[in-house]
Amino acid sequence: MEHKKESIIHIGFDDTDSLNGGCTTYLALAIIKNISNRCKFLDYPRLIRNNPNIPWKTRGNGSIGITIETERENIEFIKQEILKQIEKHHQKDENTNPGIVLIEGDIPKKVQEFAIQALVKNISIKEAEKLAEKFCLFYHSIGNGRGLIGGLAAVGNQLEPKKEDFTFELIAYRTEEFIGTKRKISEKSVYKMDQLLAPNVFNNIDSETNKVLIYPAGKDPVLFGLRGETPSVVLEAFSLVETEEPIDGYCIFRTNQGTDQHFKFADSLAENYGVFKGKIEVIEKPITIHGGHVFFKGQICDSGKEVDVAAFEPSKSFKKIINQLLSEDILMAYGGVKFKKEFKKHSIHLEKCELIFLSQHYIEEAPFCPQCSKRMTSDGYQKGYKCKKCGYKDKAMIKTQKVIERNLEKKLIIPPEQAQRHLVKPFRRYDMQMKTGFEMIEEWWKEYSKV
Ligand code: ATP
Repeated sequence: MEHKKESIIHIGFDDTDSLNGGCTTYLALAIIKNISNRCKFLDYPRLIRNNPNIPWKTRGNGSIGITIETERENIEFIKQEILKQIEKHHQKDENTNPGIVLIEGDIPKKVQEFAIQALVKNISIKEAEKLAEKFCLFYHSIGNGRGLIGGLAAVGNQLEPKKEDFTFELIAYRTEEFIGTKRKISEKSVYKMDQLLAPNVFNNIDSETNKVLIYPAGKDPVLFGLRGETPSVVLEAFSLVETEEPIDGYCIFRTNQGTDQHFKFADSLAENYGVFKGKIEVIEKPITIHGGHVFFKGQICDSGKEVDVAAFEPSKSFKKIINQLLSEDILMAYGGVKFKKEFKKHSIHLEKCELIFLSQHYIEEAPFCPQCSKRMTSDGYQKGYKCKKCGYKDKAMIKTQKVIERNLEKKLIIPPEQAQRHLVKPFRRYDMQMKTGFEMIEEWWKEYSKV
């Protein structure tokens, strides 16, 4: 049988960095640069954020998928080039376990399903290895092989227009001599850019504190990232942001950031490290613990299971609202699950929630005097009430009930931008239409020096 000359190859990789340095997206740009003369890119590199609750992540649990068309005779070259770049760029320490996968042609359904699971569950390395063995043209792992999970997930999660929501991020990189130094970016230019391009750019500025959010603090090569609805709007944003240091290069990624994609596939089972979505009834009034975190005891409406529900300190105004909940209130909760050994209980860390039922609570008070309207006092056990002002007494009088006024509304609440996880959909995106496609713009990546 004669093989077709052209072939579609899906490349996925993950776990190449650690807190000591490196960045998987930077590796993506190095790979793109080095294979670009041997293939056509059919999509932007996809920056897929997977389950944010797994304990092995470095930061945002991101993995990369690249889809190319190439002549079959180039596949070996491309494979070798990817391995070379991984070897060159990956952080060599015990917490870094790179994995890379290559899948040819249509993406098997099982890989697509695996990608959904990777968004919401804790997956074993074994499961990923079995899948890679069965469906990959080639796969390779270093260390314990954990990177295969994210690699397969990035290939399987295609963010298909009309079916899945997606956004774009332009990431600009630093030149080597600046890595590790303070990033000098004109905040004024970021405010101006946001004003000009909103609502088509998002999460540039924290709406509560006005803090600029486009740059990280770590030792990695990222100078800043600009998030938006289209490739051209993030490129325009790039032209507006002013920096005091040279830029090494940039790349536009298509991503599931800001889409709530994990909540789309979440459930109310409350499994350890899983993503939770479900109604919870408040059992006990919230308390604030050391560090300013707010906790309350709740019950999952679907199962009756008792859980602790937490809103963390950086969520500021969000946490303040949660602190005002009372027993019997019901919320639609969205968040991550952790099993707390010391309490033998699961706790749900809220990423957003909708208040759907606010219960009525009363305080009991002494009645007012029917003659002079003064508040009465008790006349002793089972003796009713007396009025100290006019002397009126009534044995039959009992306490009155007053409804406690709730300063809460039934509505959706989301922590401010700086406390949001990458996948969480910010308010600014709520009116956006589902995208029906995307255009490959010419200048979607660029390198100015050696990447
Ligand atoms: P960065 O954001 O800086 O790229 P990161 O937060 O993505 O780093 P990694 O260093 O990539 O962190 O580590 C995450 C690891 O967890 C990867 O090996 C990835 O394959 C694996 N992983 C991803 N999703 C899951 C999941 N659902 N279950 C178990 N492991 C997962």
